[in-house]
Amino acid sequence: MRVVFLDRDGVINKDPAGKMYVTKWKDFSFLPRAKRAVCLLCKNGFKVVLISNQAGVGKGLFSKKKLAFITDNMQKALKKSGGRVHGVFYCTHRSEDDCNCRKPKAGLIHMATKRFPCDLTKTYFIGDTIRDVMAARQAGCRSILIFTGKEKPSNKKNWETQPKHTFSDLYEAVEFIVGKK
Ligand SMILES: [Mg+2]
Repeated sequence: MRVVFLDRDGVINKDPAGKMYVTKWKDFSFLPRAKRAVCLLCKNGFKVVLISNQAGVGKGLFSKKKLAFITDNMQKALKKSGGRVHGVFYCTHRSEDDCNCRKPKAGLIHMATKRFPCDLTKTYFIGDTIRDVMAARQAGCRSILIFTGKEKPSNKKNWETQPKHTFSDLYEAVEFIVGKK
């Protein structure tokens, strides 16, 4: 199975930045070209799988039900533009819960591969933070860092680990992936 793992905030939708979490659908705002990027993956036969930390649930800031509502609405909007996300895996723990699924750990990716079996060494993980790059590395995936969220190219010297590739946004990363076949 050909799979691409995506982080959510800062990749598909605008990073909530100062607000920390997207706690309601009203605050979920698609990044430019993100829907087209998901479409392009689907058209090329990839399974699109979200891997996202949502500790705001564990902190009691919003409920699992709210999170599911946001996910449903995101899916509806993606479907309107001809794409979809095939699997969604959230870690809702807080960092102090010391779970195995919260990125930079690879637990969520491993969970996802049970439903979406793939060769991790050939699978891309696209995220906007070094934490995503670390999770990708932990899992043995190819890491792509994009600059529509928390990171900037000028911060490169501070990165704890270097991504395999960097692109300006999700669409550019996807063009690279589908061009690679
Ligand atoms: Mg993110």
